[in-house]
Amino acid sequence: MQFRNKDGTPWVWWIGGPRLILLALVALVGFRYSFGLSWAAAAIAVAVAFGLAAALWGTFALLNATGREVRLPRRVLVASARGGIRALECRNCHWRGPISDLIRSPDGDGGAAFSCPSCGAEIGHSVSAE
Ligand SMILES: [Zn+2]
Repeated sequence: MQFRNKDGTPWVWWIGGPRLILLALVALVGFRYSFGLSWAAAAIAVAVAFGLAAALWGTFALLNATGREVRLPRRVLVASARGGIRALECRNCHWRGPISDLIRSPDGDGGAAFSCPSCGAEIGHSVSAE
């Protein structure tokens, strides 16, 4: 497995290493003076920042090298795109469907009960104060 720079040239330690060390030193001085940290605290901050960057970069480099893609479950994307859960499952009869298919019945307090259209079991409840 070989690392590459953004321009496609192979990434090698004797060029990349000193650059990283230089970057670390600049970051160390930057953290030290911009956040008023002690040298020890600045060193820890730089180490953490580099560790996170290396972990992220390493993960993507490894995924690239092995030809795998980073996949998020489609369900998660769809759910987050819609801004919430739209499908429900009845715990009683395992009917599944959108919230709009539920039978809505006022409960007298200004709220409403939502029941399963298949077996009538109450699935959810809304309150007017919401
Ligand atoms: Zn049901």
